[in-house]
Amino acid sequence: MATIHVKRAFKYRFYPTDAQAAELSRTFGCVRKVYNMALQARTEAWTLRRERVNYNAMSAMLTAWKKTEELAYLSEVSSVPLQQALRHLQGAFANFWARRAKYPTFKSRKRSRKSAEYTSSAFRFRDGELTLAKMAEPLAVVWSRQLPEGAAPSTVTVSQDSAGRWFVSLLCEDRPTMPNAPAGSAVGIDAGITALVTLSTGEKVTNPRHERRDRERLARAQRNLARKAPGDGANRAKARFKVGRVYARIADRRRDFLHELTTRLVRDNQVVVIEDLAVRNMLKNRRLARAISDAGWTEMRSMLEYKCEWYGRELVVVDRWFPSSKLCSACGILRSEMPLNVREWTCDCGTTHDRDVNAAKNILAAGLAVTACGDGVRPQRSTPGGQSSVKQEVVPPPRTRAAAQPRG
Ligand SMILES: [Zn+2]
Repeated sequence: MATIHVKRAFKYRFYPTDAQAAELSRTFGCVRKVYNMALQARTEAWTLRRERVNYNAMSAMLTAWKKTEELAYLSEVSSVPLQQALRHLQGAFANFWARRAKYPTFKSRKRSRKSAEYTSSAFRFRDGELTLAKMAEPLAVVWSRQLPEGAAPSTVTVSQDSAGRWFVSLLCEDRPTMPNAPAGSAVGIDAGITALVTLSTGEKVTNPRHERRDRERLARAQRNLARKAPGDGANRAKARFKVGRVYARIADRRRDFLHELTTRLVRDNQVVVIEDLAVRNMLKNRRLARAISDAGWTEMRSMLEYKCEWYGRELVVVDRWFPSSKLCSACGILRSEMPLNVREWTCDCGTTHDRDVNAAKNILAAGLAVTACGDGVRPQRSTPGGQSSVKQEVVPPPRTRAAAQPRG
């Protein structure tokens, strides 16, 4: 059994009382206000005086704001989510200074995610009941799956999605375990256009059921929203809510589906090989765009990354310049071109290939070549630009925020 300690987020729906909903909505508003004011202050400090403001200075500002008549209402909500908002802004600036992200932007009332983060001093978790600061009653959480035994959440994030649903996410220490996969088991995965993914075993995984019908519903809801006149506030809000609800359902179903798929792949294989697709570049190609966004390739890759990390599997990422479609997996001959519309082809060696299965087999072979070389040994250079055809992926620490909603 592979055992490691990781932080894992467990997300559940809950149904607030009217008083709790009011308190949380007020908190979301204050979080947004504090974030935006702090961003404004930092921007002024930087543009006018070339000054970098740190977290402590922002925290002092927050204290001063609360003492003004105009902003006294900020004291009415728990102070912890407001301080967390300043920490998030600090993180956004750190990413900006390190050139990992663009300059932080203001949170808008309609567009930005409504959420508030509570650290351990601002909530109580006891006997399976979660009570937030400033609230008398525990939240009515639907515990749809079990927390790890003896789990003590370190952070609790409350959010409301665009469909009006309430969620609470608990960040806990966890020790996931899984039996070892058979020795030598490995799979190559090709991100597909016609299929969601194709495996080197020949299996084609198609998009989740209902997705096409839900997409049509989404398109209808979006057209309906576009037709509403700007002056028609109430109906526009209703139409926007409807779009949010359909969208949330699509995303939920897709996430469930991807969790099931990635867990199976990681359970059954010691080594998982994927292609490093530059999704941003592919999205420019309009024909591919729909398929890629439907497939949720980015989401799937991140699930594979953290699940391989948890369960002690090896994830190998093949360079995106690797000619997986043009290479015959039987004889190794490289074709000069392979247009996207060619789904099946016969090589001069006599082997007939399904385009995607052939690509998945090549991805697997390229990945196994790296693992055979051992750590730190680069395979031969064989691709344009002198890049090595394969690179060993350094798996980043597992995601622990809301993005990760493991189902194990
Ligand atoms: Zn061949």
